[in-house]
Amino acid sequence: MDDNSTSMIAEPTQLRVLHYPDPRLRQVCPPVTEFSNGLRAVVARMRELMETGKGVGLAATQVGLSLRLFVMNVTGKPGEEIVLVNPAIRDAHGSVEAEEGCLSLPGINVQIRRAQQCLVTAQDLDGNPLELRAEDLTARICQHETDHLNGVLIIDRMGPTDKIATRKTLRALEDQFRSTTKARPAR
Ligand code: ZN
Repeated sequence: MDDNSTSMIAEPTQLRVLHYPDPRLRQVCPPVTEFSNGLRAVVARMRELMETGKGVGLAATQVGLSLRLFVMNVTGKPGEEIVLVNPAIRDAHGSVEAEEGCLSLPGINVQIRRAQQCLVTAQDLDGNPLELRAEDLTARICQHETDHLNGVLIIDRMGPTDKIATRKTLRALEDQFRSTTKARPAR
């Protein structure tokens, strides 16, 4: 993973938020083992992309990287970003339904049922263990982003009504993806 991860994170400025149905959104990310400056640079770029996109969270999968980490900013205020490396959701309690969107699915907002609270164990950017007791929106973001690290998207969890309501938008995203990948030479 070392060689691979180094080359993957060589050019953080090139990172962009991928849109559905990019197959890279479906990868299951292996744990981060190297807490390097390269990793820091990637995270800095991810924060930038999250802020530009006015998102509350962004997982490495969404920028095409197979790294088990995400950034989030519940309040949207600068300086309040949290980086969670190798997150695991534990002690999930309660069940609430609320609307969710995703930077990788522009124009899609669907109702998703999630645990109301959970304990998230993870590491920080230095590899130190950290624990976060999360509830409501924070718990929701942690579950949404951890889903991304397992290749799961909100459209996999939406109910039948949203399935019908989002059909056109999803088809448009698929057409858009097909036309942009056709225009570019295969890598
Ligand atoms: Zn998302």
